[in-house]
Amino acid sequence: STSHAHDSSAADAAPALDIDRIRADFPVLARSVHGKPLVYLDNANTSQKPLAVIEATDHFYRTSNANVARAVHALGAEATDAYEATRDKLARFVNAPSRDEIIFTSGTTQATNLVAYSFALPRLVPGDTILVTQMEHHANIVPWQLVCARAGAKLKVAPISQSGELLVDRFVELLTADVKLACVTHVSNVLGTINPIARLARECRRRGIPLLVDGSQAAPHLPIDVRALGCDFYALTGHKMFGPTGTGMLWARREHLEAMPPFFGGGEMIREVRFEGTTFADPPHKFEAGTPNVAGFVGLGAAIDYMDSVGLAAMAAREKALLEHANTALRSVPGLRVIGEAADKVAVISFLIDGVHAHDLATLLDLEGIAVRSGHHCAHPLMQFYGVAATLRASLAFYNTHDEIDALVAAIGRVRKLLA
Ligand code: PLP
Repeated sequence: STSHAHDSSAADAAPALDIDRIRADFPVLARSVHGKPLVYLDNANTSQKPLAVIEATDHFYRTSNANVARAVHALGAEATDAYEATRDKLARFVNAPSRDEIIFTSGTTQATNLVAYSFALPRLVPGDTILVTQMEHHANIVPWQLVCARAGAKLKVAPISQSGELLVDRFVELLTADVKLACVTHVSNVLGTINPIARLARECRRRGIPLLVDGSQAAPHLPIDVRALGCDFYALTGHKMFGPTGTGMLWARREHLEAMPPFFGGGEMIREVRFEGTTFADPPHKFEAGTPNVAGFVGLGAAIDYMDSVGLAAMAAREKALLEHANTALRSVPGLRVIGEAADKVAVISFLIDGVHAHDLATLLDLEGIAVRSGHHCAHPLMQFYGVAATLRASLAFYNTHDEIDALVAAIGRVRKLLA
């Protein structure tokens, strides 16, 4: 194929992946569904896990299981070391200035809620606003609505184009003095659009407005550098980046973490507890009350090591080729309309087919072993913008193949005859 000819530098330099070897790393990819080989195209919902992750969590429970940061015994120390090692890996993964700026969360949802209640709510007064975009996931809308309602503040929404790109000039115009926080997704989970975060962050910073970035869909696809991006907060979720469910991260600038009061109270987040008053641990522990998902974070560390071993550039190059193939193949389907045609996007494709309900199609595709998502993708306002109730979404990972995309297109052809 000549499809690599226009790839940008890093991707050009990346060696092609040995895809059979890669797929062998993901045991679930070998199974069948309804008697057909599984074709898993729902990676934006949750990605599959490599053996390295499965074995790391298994190994932890078999050999070192103990609570963290509490016990002096050998298992307690091993568990704490393995768990804390993931903080270093995440700090490197997002190029954070310090490991102490990495707060472990259960996922992006907990991260946005932490910022909502601990950072935004104490600062909001009636008349203030929080700026979001039309393409946000509910996890980057609803927490802001909840704290705005408490404070008498309001949400403002930056518009997008029909092709699914943020209207950056409009976003900048909306950065007025009433805005106390701006919240933007790095990559849209529905459209695949990559937002120009560094540029948005410069505009926010010039006006003294903190910027939170939802990195849930960026982490599995793009190198992340919070220093280069220049944002204030960066959230991600482990299960979409080949790690276990119930793991995630909030990175925040140290000055914010120091100013933020704790959100959850309990064990492991205190310095000293007295009934007259309690003093808190320093960040990150101030925000990490209670026993965490220790094995999960050990697995997330293994996921980061795995991504490093495959190579982010090689993954991106492969995904780019898959996206080109999927775009061409899907557009050959009569009556199929792609929603979201941003110039800069990851391999996530939403589409509709004339006269066919998304759920009906997804249900019949499942009988063919093909897993796609149908629905609103936790993005009601984006569906309202496009005037649709639901879309079908094929979201690709580097372990997907051209053959799987062809299988999707062939199955759509067979299935729509049944629905027509
Ligand atoms: N933000 C985006 C863009 C997402 O795609 C998701 C995925 O569900 C989330 C936030 C929420 O992630 P989680 O449910 O893991 O907290």
